[in-house]
Parts: sequence; structure tokens; C-alpha cells
Amino acid sequence: MIKVAIIARIGAHKSFASRGAHEKKVLEKPTPFGNSVPLHFMEFDEIPFVVLSRHGEDRYSKSAPFVNDRANIWAIKELGIDRILSWSAPGSLNPEIAPGDLILVDDLLDETRSAPGTFFEGKGIGVIRQNPVFCPEIRRIISNTLEKETFTFHKKGVYVSVEGPRLETPVEIRKYRLFGGDLIGMNLAPEAFLAKELELCYGALCYAVNYAEGMMERPYVPGVLFEGLSLPEEFARVEKVEAAFPDLFLSFLPGVVQAERSCLCGEAMKRYKLRGDIGEDFKTWIL
Ligand SMILES: [Zn+2]
Repeated sequence: MIKVAIIARIGAHKSFASRGAHEKKVLEKPTPFGNSVPLHFMEFDEIPFVVLSRHGEDRYSKSAPFVNDRANIWAIKELGIDRILSWSAPGSLNPEIAPGDLILVDDLLDETRSAPGTFFEGKGIGVIRQNPVFCPEIRRIISNTLEKETFTFHKKGVYVSVEGPRLETPVEIRKYRLFGGDLIGMNLAPEAFLAKELELCYGALCYAVNYAEGMMERPYVPGVLFEGLSLPEEFARVEKVEAAFPDLFLSFLPGVVQAERSCLCGEAMKRYKLRGDIGEDFKTWIL
């Protein structure tokens, strides 16, 4: 029985395989919203898990607005998986969070515009409270595991999710800072909200890749990543943490699969069930 899926960035199955995880099979799952990205069925220390890469198998081939979150989350739910670990790499708009730092985000500001944000189109369901946004149990397991690591680790952070693919303007970053944002990225919304609609646990660990626009004086440099927004020494710090992420995520697996599911994520739709609006089969909530 597979209990956990890892949604990562690019070609994550290869980085897990390089750490000794075995790939059993791979398939793209057809869903009512189109095909999911390839689902890699893997195993590490006898723990089975599934890996998805949002942006591509080999390179960054699909930018954020074109990631089909509904297909990916549906596919995970249909496999009977109930926990998702999310790996993403946003920018920092908090001077106290440096490129290469780890952040276990605890709140989410959704600034996407056209990404389909719900499974429940034209239905009278899905008015779900969003506090806690992220599964407290997964956050606890990640936090406890990271206590033993030497990386700079922030136990909280507000992730501002924008649509992309462009980066933000200086005034947008100032606005999001005023709103209480710490990180800015293009991945967690609507992904986390869709997971909640299907009563899945969802926890997100991020590493900051750059300081957001306007935080530092950086000349525009055509032809390099982010056009000069990042410095080489910052990239070096990011590369170090990026290289450690597969091992970190594998180290979360035992805790995540062994813990009893005592959180309330699996009851997000309970009142609709009690009211008789929906049954147990999630497909009937949507189709
Ligand atoms: Zn949960």
C-alpha cells in the first residue's frame, strides 16, 4: 500500500534513484482533467512511494501556468495515497531568509489568476476552512527530522503563490512583503488547495533560490539565470542544499508512513458527507 507521494520540480525520480531508491514502474494516469505527469513508483528501504515532477522529466519543459495540478492531484488520490510531500524552490522576500535556507511553510497567499483553483466546478461544495493550510502532522515530522540537520532552517514562512512564468516587478515584491509574505513562487497554489479538496495531507518544504526583485541592488545581465538577480556565491549555496534535498525527503518517509493519521485533513469534506450531499467516492464529488 503506497501512502505517500512526493511532488517535486524536475526529474526528481533520477535524484531519488541516485540515492538508492528503486524504480518499479512509471505511468501517466489519464484523469477527467487530462493526463497526469509521469508517476514514478519507487521504493526505498522497503517503503513504497510515488514521485511526480511538475516541470518536466529531464529539464524545465513545462512552466508553472501549464502544470495540470488537477490531473496530478486526482491521479494521486485515485492511487489511494493520502499524504503529499511537496518540494519547491521559491524566491525570498524576507531579508532574514537567504538563498539556500530551508523553510517549512505554514501559510499560503494565493495570487494566481487563471489557474483552475477547484475540482468542484458548478457544485455547491468546497467551502473549506484554510487554517491550518498545511498538514500539521507532516509539518511536525519534517520539523523533527530536520532538527538533526545543519542547514539553516525556518520553521515557518508565508508562501506567496503567483502564476508566472515571468518573475515579479519590484513593486509587486514590496506589496507582497507588506502582505506578510516571506517567499514567492509558482507552485503551491492551487496545488495545496486541490489536495485539501480531496482530503489529502499536504506539507511543503522549500529552499530559497534567490532574493526577490528589488531586495538587493543587482544589475540586469542578459543570458544568465534570472538575468542577474542572483550572485554566483548564492547559487553555490543553493546547489548545496538542492543536492541534499533527495536525501532529506527520503529521511522523511519512515516518519510519514509510520505515523497514524491523527490530523483532520481526511475530514475536510465531512460536513458535506454528514449532510448527504456527497458519498465516500471522491469521483462522485466532482463528475
Ligand atoms: Zn494531515
